[in-house]
Amino acid sequence: MNIADLPLPVSAAKADWIAASTWLGFTPTGGASDARAKCQSTIQRQMAGGYVLEYITETAEKPNPGFERDPRYLDEQAIHLENRGRFLAVHKLRHSSRPLPQIVGEEEFSRLQDMWAQGGKRWRWSVAFPVIESYEIIGKPKASDVLDTASYRRLFAHSSATLRPLTDAERSQISSLELRRVSAPNAWIAIEDEMAAALASEITRRSLALMDHDLGALEGESEEQKAKIKKRAAWLADRFVRHRISAKTLFCDICEFDPSAILNAEILTARTALDVHHKFPLAEGVRYTTLDDFSLLCPTCHRMEHQLLKSGGSFFDRQKAPNLFASAIP
Ligand SMILES: [Zn+2]
Ligand SMILES: [Zn+2]
Repeated sequence: MNIADLPLPVSAAKADWIAASTWLGFTPTGGASDARAKCQSTIQRQMAGGYVLEYITETAEKPNPGFERDPRYLDEQAIHLENRGRFLAVHKLRHSSRPLPQIVGEEEFSRLQDMWAQGGKRWRWSVAFPVIESYEIIGKPKASDVLDTASYRRLFAHSSATLRPLTDAERSQISSLELRRVSAPNAWIAIEDEMAAALASEITRRSLALMDHDLGALEGESEEQKAKIKKRAAWLADRFVRHRISAKTLFCDICEFDPSAILNAEILTARTALDVHHKFPLAEGVRYTTLDDFSLLCPTCHRMEHQLLKSGGSFFDRQKAPNLFASAIP
């Protein structure tokens, strides 16, 4: 897949000399909570709900005195030398930050501050956004080979403590970069936040029953964890249906059957003739799933899709097992 295939735009770039692993951190202008809040809202505005492009700067920082020979610093320096000036990855971040000690633990937080705090101010990267979805950019291209000179200079010639929002022209220059999804261990932070929201909300019995059916084959989790995963999926499914109602797109995503062509809109509800279906049931509990993972199906297409899933195919991925389709179907 390419950047252009992502469900949301890449809204901004982040330049740092250390490669991100499971979180991206930003340093507020002070240690007080209002400085952290201001920093968080700036980053949220710049992300605009989209993805963040990770760029590794040409120059590297030096750690605080005493850490010049620290093995972890030397590792980070080696990674920097290999990747400097390159685009490494595209990340989706949790929309709100977490205090960094909560993500990495108190001990690691202290180590980071000992090593990198500037002028003894121990709040470096303290506004931290967990990475909940991650793609490496295949070939790690040089940013200067991908962007025109003006864009490259505008985005990366000066250092910045926040993100650098991309223009449409810059987005189109990166749109054909190839991606490979990689695991995002912090996806659980977002999933758990949403499980808490799901447990506290009213969920329709219909969505609960449909997700119970779709996610019947969940493996490798405790019964309690499975129940939470299903509940969150049902909560997402309800949100998905509400979204389709407000977008006025109540039709089957496979055959485009539109029940309002037959039934009077007054007696028709979203649930009358369509089911909400989880397109990638095996992804649930494995990665951070979103409304994009759901579809609305008429009962016949829904049954056929489940038959395909059992046989190793899917309407939503016809390349995977093309032999399962009648040859007349494109
Ligand atoms: Zn259908
Ligand atoms: Zn289903």
